[in-house]
Amino acid sequence: MPMPLSLDHHNQHSVYSESVVDGPATTQGSDTMSQLAPKQKLPALKAAVSPTPVFENIEATPVPIGDLYDILSYRRVANERGELDMIDKYIMPLNPVKDAYGNYFVTIPGPQDTAPVVAFTAHTDSVHYDGHRYSFVEPAKPEPHRPRQSLKVENHILSLAVPDNCLGADDGTGIWVLLNLIKAGVPGLYCFYRDEESGRQGSEWSAKHEPNRYANIAAMLSFDRRGVTDIITHQMGQRCCSEVFAEHIANAIDPGECSPDDGGSFTDSYSFLDLIPECTNVCVGYYAQHTPNEYQDLTWAAYLVNRLITMDWSIVPIGREPGETDNYGHLYSCADIVNSFPDDVGEALEQFYGITSEELLDIIAEINCTTVERVADQIDLDLSTRVEPFGLSLTRDDDYADFPFDDLGDYDHE
Ligand SMILES: [Zn+2]
Repeated sequence: MPMPLSLDHHNQHSVYSESVVDGPATTQGSDTMSQLAPKQKLPALKAAVSPTPVFENIEATPVPIGDLYDILSYRRVANERGELDMIDKYIMPLNPVKDAYGNYFVTIPGPQDTAPVVAFTAHTDSVHYDGHRYSFVEPAKPEPHRPRQSLKVENHILSLAVPDNCLGADDGTGIWVLLNLIKAGVPGLYCFYRDEESGRQGSEWSAKHEPNRYANIAAMLSFDRRGVTDIITHQMGQRCCSEVFAEHIANAIDPGECSPDDGGSFTDSYSFLDLIPECTNVCVGYYAQHTPNEYQDLTWAAYLVNRLITMDWSIVPIGREPGETDNYGHLYSCADIVNSFPDDVGEALEQFYGITSEELLDIIAEINCTTVERVADQIDLDLSTRVEPFGLSLTRDDDYADFPFDDLGDYDHE
């Protein structure tokens, strides 16, 4: 499974000159997110990305990059003001259809007004925490809901300005990707699901109660995968899309770098395995989701949007039947479980046990009676490119006394 990528590495995916550096931009108040927009004029797209770029630079995506900052400034605790305000501001102007659960749908018809055959999904909630939701650690006392948070941008990386629960690029970036495709007129059924983080409740409801909504859908792409490499073929160990489909999407987005990956935990498209032939999850460039260290690679978000708009959706191969599985067998050992759920085990180690990837390398070296360098060598990890989580100093102080991830106290950085 992918180790955390260094900035150097994922700048290889950058659609922009690698020498470009934004002036760090910060904001104190919740109403000034537009001030976060990069101050410097950015250079044109690299020609290699797309022979016909649909926009010139990171500031020229169909939906402004500033709207991504703004979406992520909402702490989208499910059904609290942060989530509802974001929906009001960004989804309601699209005149969506709302189902009885509270999910929202926007349809962009295909040629000659035909029903779209591709569905795109993102979830409106995040794992923000106000003392009474998603608590891994039982709260001492519920806090009042804080609907907004401050962000910062450095070197095209968006992160929290001060330590808090999480950035919420999971899945605010997915929302922003969908808004872009809608604005660009890409035919599709656009699904904005609720309550994904508490067990895909919105999408499960939709699949169970309104399956006809998906009668024409051959492929569903969720935009809710970390990093910049994975097109998910298995969720929770169950096959969700065919290799040929995943290969096609990977090549259309970033040949050589994106590839099929069978290590997905679940997202909303998992709710449709028995209804829709191809269900996948696409990497949107966030990292360390569900943690205070979460950050978003803005160049990837803009690049991804560009690729999705320019690709020809009429030639996407369909290689799976609804319900078709080649599920993993029963799980017997820890190693089997790690193989099937590498992300979840990684998340558990980082969040619940406060183990850094550096410490994990140490442990693995010790088990194998070898050096960290030799372990790194085996997995092609260039130790010199390792970076600390972006811009966050998780020094505990009274302002964050209720911060739920106690075990992360060891992450102090200079
Ligand atoms: Zn998510």
